[in-house]
Amino acid sequence: MTKDTKPLAPGVDPCDDDGHGQQTLRLDEARSRILSSVVALRDTEAVPVLESLGRVLASPVISTVDVPSHTNSAMDGYALAGCELPGDGEKTFEIAGTSWAGRPFAGRPRAGQCVRIMTGASMPAGTDTVVMQEHVAVDGLRATIRAGHRAGQNVRAAGEDIRAGDRVLAAGVLLRPAHLGLLASIGAGEVDVFRLPRVVVFSTGDELRSIGEPLGEGQIYDSNRYTLSGMLRRLGLDVIDMGIIPDTREDTERAFAAASAQADAILASGGVSVGEADFVKETLERIGDIGFWKVAMKPGKPLAFGHVGKALFFGLPGNPVSVMATFYQIVQPALRALMGLAETGPSIVVKAIACTALRKKPGRLEFQRGVLSRDSASGGYVVSGVAHQGAGVLRSMTEANCFIVLSLEQGNVRPGDEVEVQPFAGLT
Ligand code: AMP
Ligand code: MG
Repeated sequence: MTKDTKPLAPGVDPCDDDGHGQQTLRLDEARSRILSSVVALRDTEAVPVLESLGRVLASPVISTVDVPSHTNSAMDGYALAGCELPGDGEKTFEIAGTSWAGRPFAGRPRAGQCVRIMTGASMPAGTDTVVMQEHVAVDGLRATIRAGHRAGQNVRAAGEDIRAGDRVLAAGVLLRPAHLGLLASIGAGEVDVFRLPRVVVFSTGDELRSIGEPLGEGQIYDSNRYTLSGMLRRLGLDVIDMGIIPDTREDTERAFAAASAQADAILASGGVSVGEADFVKETLERIGDIGFWKVAMKPGKPLAFGHVGKALFFGLPGNPVSVMATFYQIVQPALRALMGLAETGPSIVVKAIACTALRKKPGRLEFQRGVLSRDSASGGYVVSGVAHQGAGVLRSMTEANCFIVLSLEQGNVRPGDEVEVQPFAGLT
């Protein structure tokens, strides 16, 4: 059977033939293979609501109270019985007292009386309607109201938002500021959340030095641990930093063993491309269950993925921009699943008009770095590519505010063409 007629597994690119036994996968296929092998952490802990921001809810939250807890006014105005509203003309009421928020009116207004009421204050006994103060002519203790109001208006019923016994939040929800407020509104002091994944990060490469060390010939500072730490912290994860691992069999093996003993996920960068010191691959194959893939994306082609012990292992390419692109497109969705998130939602993609030409060869999904802005004349989005698109040019990530996502089949882009853009602001 020739290569041309060989049936291909779904997601495998037909250009797969590198002679190194590495499979070429489309990004969506790589992502779904990874997601299907992620098992969410099940351990839970109770945390105070104020400390639950960014955590994932482990069990549903049932309200024990009604919200609002009492029937109250939605307006500053005058509370009365709806049946006393004038049908036509106007009617003057005697003001019997005031109901303040938190300090209710104790009595019960008689026929022909109303009660001054503030927003959020309890409705006095016998009243069911509030006329906003702008519609009331007040003279001393007399309030005159015209026809045209509706019985029951401007009142919020007890339990209108939430009833005692209602399930207000489902398990698997990522807690955002609104959730904290909602939890507080039902009087919840603590919530059950999933334990956070422990993530170990290290860099591989003999050429790498840490900040503070002098650079010798051919050496560079390790930047990948910094970008990775930053991206992980945006996910609310603490990082266990294992530093730089030299390119030797012993160091590599020791690092993987130490990492897997304490981590739920291991993120390593460098050492996964073809032609790398072979022991990285060799070690991983020996001590773990790791696949080496070529993902049809640019930047970020080589990727190792699998397990070392119980820990998920991601071997990212060494180039600094590739690290960021593969993290956002592949690692982040997997870590979110590991965190127990039920639903991560679609990534935010907007359409924009290219205002610069973009060089692109068909064959790989590209994440070029761009600057997205709004065209003042048309009000629509426009995007320009940053000057240096090399996978090693980290500066391109600092100058850009979005990825310009160019499909596998796409060729060169001309100014005026429409492209899809992923704003960095939507990535975390
Ligand atoms: P590798 O994937 O190990 O072949 O590395 C590809 C390129 O990325 C090389 O130019 C490396 O020097 C560079 N590189 C690898 N790791 C890092 C790192 N942690 N920080 C900065 N550059 C790196
Ligand atoms: Mg290397």
